Amino acid sequence: MEMIPKEKGVLLMSAKNIPVMCVDSNAIIVFETYDCFSNQILTEDQPFSSVGWNKINPATGPLFVNGAEPGDILKVEILDIKIASQGVMTTAPNLGVLGQIVTGETTKVIFIQGEKAIFNDKIQIPIKPMIGVIGTAPATEEIPTGTPGAHGGNMDCKKIIKGSTLYLPVNVPGALLSMGDLHAVMGDGEIVVCGLEIPGEVEVKVSVVKGESLPLPMLVDKEKVITIASAETLDEAAKMATIHMHQFLVEHLDIGIDEAGMLLSLVGDLRICQVVDPLMTARMEFPQWILDQYEYTLK
Ligand code: CA
Ligand code: CA
Repeated sequence: MEMIPKEKGVLLMSAKNIPVMCVDSNAIIVFETYDCFSNQILTEDQPFSSVGWNKINPATGPLFVNGAEPGDILKVEILDIKIASQGVMTTAPNLGVLGQIVTGETTKVIFIQGEKAIFNDKIQIPIKPMIGVIGTAPATEEIPTGTPGAHGGNMDCKKIIKGSTLYLPVNVPGALLSMGDLHAVMGDGEIVVCGLEIPGEVEVKVSVVKGESLPLPMLVDKEKVITIASAETLDEAAKMATIHMHQFLVEHLDIGIDEAGMLLSLVGDLRICQVVDPLMTARMEFPQWILDQYEYTLK
């Protein structure tokens, strides 16, 4: 299987990026990824500020997918996520929800043993490896890999895990997919601006979907279909994620406008992805079993 090495990466998602590999639709490929600090923090005496901003949130890629044209959808099936045996977390003043409260720059190296992250001598946290940054190139803008948006990017959505399928917009020929910023585990919100940051490898299948209209980015797993939206405030992001799901229900399941709203009120779960990046990200989760009742399957 072909692998894109971690050294081939970008700090901007942009149509101007030169692809590092080209594949056909339905290809399976591995992205090797740095952690969000470009693997620069290895010991607890290295503070967050020791990492230059030009080393933060690198994304491996971009990958050019043959046949992907603007207006298509790039389907990214997350087949596997392998993580390293050592991850890291940092705090820093004025960063994140607790920026006014944390006492200073603290670095914590956290080891992975089996399926657990060894947080301290009392707490071992079950890991749930996820992808923080994954996106395609925007049509004209150049968006830093640390920012989320309609193109995907730094969504920090803890549901982007092995077994899930992410749908992203194709804005430029080839789509130009890149990804990085794996977390061994992360809670909704990403309170101190990091998950358990860790290098790794992501195996994906990429396919071009034509003639379909979905409110993107959209994520699907066995139990949920999820719309993800990012905006300047969490309120706006939450509203946008909800409107996107509503739009999906009305357009694809042929449910009436008001009835779809009622369904969202009954079984839709509006959740926070993160509140610490340049834009805030929220998601609306809706149960797959209702799609099954309508015999609807995403392509
Ligand atoms: Ca992130
Ligand atoms: Ca991160």
